[in-house]
Amino acid sequence: TIDLFTFDEFIRFWAKDRPEIIALDGDDLSLTYGELEDATARVASALLALGLKKGDRVSWFGKNATTYFTLFFGAARAGIVMTPVGWRLAEPEAAFIIDNAEAKVLFLGDGFEACANTLGKRPGLIACYTAEETRKVMKETPRAEFEPSGPNDAVLQLYTSGTTGNPKGAVLSNANLFALRKAGVDNPHPYTLMDEDEAILVAMPCAHIGGTGLGVMSLAAGLPGVVLSEFEPTRVFDAVVNRGVTRFFIVPAALALLLQHPDCAKTDFSRLRYILYGASPIPLELLRQCIAMFGADFIQAYGMTETTGTICTLPPEDHSVEGNQRMRSAGKPLPGVEVMIRGQDGQAMPVGAIGEIVTRSSNNMLGYWKLPEATASTMDADGWIATGDVGYMDEDGYVYMYDRAKDMIITGGENVYPAEVESGIYGHPDVLEVAVIGVPDAKWGEAVKAICVPKPGHTIDPDSIIGWARERLAGFKVPKSVDTIEALPRNPSGKILRRELRAPYWAGYDRQVN
Ligand code: ATP
Ligand code: MG
Repeated sequence: TIDLFTFDEFIRFWAKDRPEIIALDGDDLSLTYGELEDATARVASALLALGLKKGDRVSWFGKNATTYFTLFFGAARAGIVMTPVGWRLAEPEAAFIIDNAEAKVLFLGDGFEACANTLGKRPGLIACYTAEETRKVMKETPRAEFEPSGPNDAVLQLYTSGTTGNPKGAVLSNANLFALRKAGVDNPHPYTLMDEDEAILVAMPCAHIGGTGLGVMSLAAGLPGVVLSEFEPTRVFDAVVNRGVTRFFIVPAALALLLQHPDCAKTDFSRLRYILYGASPIPLELLRQCIAMFGADFIQAYGMTETTGTICTLPPEDHSVEGNQRMRSAGKPLPGVEVMIRGQDGQAMPVGAIGEIVTRSSNNMLGYWKLPEATASTMDADGWIATGDVGYMDEDGYVYMYDRAKDMIITGGENVYPAEVESGIYGHPDVLEVAVIGVPDAKWGEAVKAICVPKPGHTIDPDSIIGWARERLAGFKVPKSVDTIEALPRNPSGKILRRELRAPYWAGYDRQVN
């Protein structure tokens, strides 16, 4: 598969090589590679028959499904761009994305039929299909000849998680989506190359790269993808025990939910080979508990929507040693990926010095949709993408990601990264979850505040939290105050919305809450 660059090529290749192997096994339907080739060709034919052309957008509003992946892959074969919309979004948020993307056709997932009368009526749409109707299209549309999309044609428009502001549409090409697969063939790496008897679980929402990207990874490998309509711990356990799943990607918040589930300790994970995790910082103690619970190898993934997902991985061998400093790292750049730490003057920083993490590779998006200024400030002329994340690199090339620049707290002239403080507090016996923010302070400029969710039946004693933190963190990082909250605001990617937590404290001040 080394010389394949596009969805059209991959799908036709596997349909010849292994027509009977399951390609997608979802809650709605299951397709072999042979059937996937046929269904995707009919999707492409149907979209072209509707008058759509290369570069036009279509949207999906629904949970994860084989129907979704078939639509995406079929559209991609003809160069029509899929824009999935997170199903947890409120209607005006979903409408924003459908309008912003200028989608011509809206496809609805199972259970979302009622949206035909609301979102399905957005002014730019020429058609709206329910999942039932879509599956008919996949079966019954006559196959037509079409010109397949090329490596650099856009095929997917994924909106960023909107953690720091409005989501931006990152436009990704065929080549972006298969870049890691190609690099991985030259440089075998457990993240990019799978064994022939593996099966991947798609457990995270398809509107994010951690959901859709896993479906693409599975296709690139010609392996079965098991698609969960949504993340639910018992369904993940079932997928591992009964559906042949050997690896999955989930976010740290979801890992915590697996661990907290009463069935977790009773489940036989012996078939599981890899747990891939990432998308937000993981508290060290949570990672240790996971390593003790699951026999699988752990791989941390660091990346962003704009880089088609993962650019760095922390491999299994760096997860093994108790107290290993490396466990705090986001890992090393994958084959084919360059990472540099950039100082304020734009120059590369030496080993160990802190700056912004920037990256360059064929994973880098084509650009943001209709945001030339944001594109220009994120991607420079030499092809480097600025991540907005702060960190450093050690002498062995491991990247240590502290946190987002926008979340950094400056207190008494010292820089404090919330993720590190959160990791220091996590593990306190009363704490289920914790978020750390900076609040205005007359003496320190900003003061570190911890906002804790208690474990069921526990209460948060601020002195106890502060005492715990003092044993584990340098003095200036220790929270000056501790609040209790029932639940942390998170977006569907499981990321803590610290800007929402900050907002009430900064009302009337001029710090940009974002
Ligand atoms: P927006 O850009 O709209 O504010 P977002 O940055 O959360 O939202 P994504 O592209 O989903 O949107 O997330 C990328 C960001 O997630 C990275 O820039 C980084 O801050 C964080 N991230 C990704 N992987 C990791 C990881 N392994 N550890 C810590 N943080 C991570
Ligand atoms: Mg971002």
